[in-house]
Amino acid sequence: MPILQIEDVTKVYEGKVTHRALNQLTFEVEKGEFLAVMGPSGSGKSTLLNLISTIDRPTSGEIIFNDIKPQNLNSTELAFFRRRELGFVFQDFNLLPMLTVEENIVLPLTLDNQTVEVMEQRLASLAKKLDLTHFLQKRPNEISGGQAQRVAIARALIHEPSMILADEPTGNLDSNSSREVLELLSKINRERQATIIMVTHDPIAASFCDRVLFIKDGEFFNEIHRDDRRQTF
Ligand code: ADP
Ligand code: ADP
Repeated sequence: MPILQIEDVTKVYEGKVTHRALNQLTFEVEKGEFLAVMGPSGSGKSTLLNLISTIDRPTSGEIIFNDIKPQNLNSTELAFFRRRELGFVFQDFNLLPMLTVEENIVLPLTLDNQTVEVMEQRLASLAKKLDLTHFLQKRPNEISGGQAQRVAIARALIHEPSMILADEPTGNLDSNSSREVLELLSKINRERQATIIMVTHDPIAASFCDRVLFIKDGEFFNEIHRDDRRQTF
């Protein structure tokens, strides 16, 4: 049973010139899958993530998430859907500089009016799993990039979403921190059955995934499965 179905999705940006950023794209993502999306700059990767994350709507075609069609939800329902189902990880970490690591992590729950007990229990468990316990009281400018991305991953997981959307999560990290972050995402994917979709330019990052989907000019180009013995290019 797929968690996500992208059916014949086209996105056209209207402006001085109209631009077809995605053209009749169709694919499915299985529950528990760790998928990489690769493609040259301008191929439509950000557009695709913006559509899956419901920040933007397709011009035509359908996106179905666990039998829900986010296109049909009103803005209150959409905000609820996003908070319940999705966690975001960005290239620039997007941590709030004036908050401590701990405050950054629990922020999504604060906004959700969760009880202090739930917050503390989830924070403790994630801090242990992601090895954050020794810098929970620091601020983002006092920790390394790799640590910051682990904090961002904890923030994405704190409300226990069914899917993580990661946009170039290793784009600003050195190779050691990148590996650490990728091993962590991979572990989370295996242990928690959180489905992960990661946009990346980094072939090393893609090598951690179950499947790599290549898009070019907004269209499906090729895909590779981890267990494929023969790959064709
Ligand atoms: P990628 O993330 O693969 O670099 P994008 O999804 O950002 O690609 O962009 C795909 C194409 O759509 C590009 O040609 C880009 O310039 C264009 N595009 C993206 N967002 C907009 C927008 N808001 N308005 C007009 N064109 C856009
Ligand atoms: P990245 O490749 O790092 O994801 P992009 O350059 O593709 O960054 O796009 C960053 C943001 O700018 C996208 O979310 C997209 O909506 C917007 N954008 C990209 N191209 C255009 C464009 N031609 N016109 C307006 N907005 C654009």
